[in-house]
Amino acid sequence: MSDELLIDVQGLHAGYGGIPVLRDITLNVGPGEVVALLGPNGAGKTTTLLTISGLLAPIAGSVTVLGEPVDGHKAYLVARRGLAHVPEDRSLFFDLTVDENIRLGLTGNRQSRKEANDRAMDLLPALKPLGNRLAGLLSGGEQQMLAMARALVSEPKCILVDEMSLGLAPIIVERLLPIVRDIADQTGCGVLVVEQHVHMALEVADRGYVLNHGEMVLQGTAAELSANRHVLEASYLGEAALGE
Ligand code: ATP
Repeated sequence: MSDELLIDVQGLHAGYGGIPVLRDITLNVGPGEVVALLGPNGAGKTTTLLTISGLLAPIAGSVTVLGEPVDGHKAYLVARRGLAHVPEDRSLFFDLTVDENIRLGLTGNRQSRKEANDRAMDLLPALKPLGNRLAGLLSGGEQQMLAMARALVSEPKCILVDEMSLGLAPIIVERLLPIVRDIADQTGCGVLVVEQHVHMALEVADRGYVLNHGEMVLQGTAAELSANRHVLEASYLGEAALGE
């Protein structure tokens, strides 16, 4: 299995200014998998994604993406290798149109760019009629779709989606999460998604990890985590140990 892993994090310690906020994190994502990264505010979810995409250097332990080590330098090389990161703030250019924002993610020759664009639009058809609209005028849900479309057109092999529901009504999240599942199923991408709506996330995920205070407190298949609701809830309060 480990040969096939897209993301392989082993014993990771990472943080800021040399002070770890993540301690001994081990997780992985394989092709076509949706893996939910869960946990309360400040647990270390964003820090984990930043370290995986090479924006933050590990203090100890290892991060391997698509078979190559990631050490916190030259994040653009990790992106070029096939990792796309949809950040918490979505990082859209509000003064550019939807089409222009998407164009920023395109790579390759004219034909492959067209194919990548068509594939992204098939997965996110709600964006099709919005091509000429300024990104700053989109609703929160549309902005999230645009951020995912821009990631998708680079034809990534794995995608990190940070806090996709930020600022969105639960009903919008309910519509967006199945798109994440479709992306994994239809493109074979591995997706690591940070999500506050735990039970909605587990409906589309294959597996999940729960962080609390920078440590991995629970992990399992989505079915296992959903079936152990009290353990899952306790893990948010810091009362569950790894593997319970
Ligand atoms: P949330 O769900 O609220 O976004 P999170 O699980 O993504 O939280 P992180 O953003 O990874 O958590 O933060 C983990 C810890 O690291 C927190 O205690 C936070 O205050 C701290 N932290 C985050 N960014 C920095 C930074 N740039 N410098 C110093 N500490 C930071």
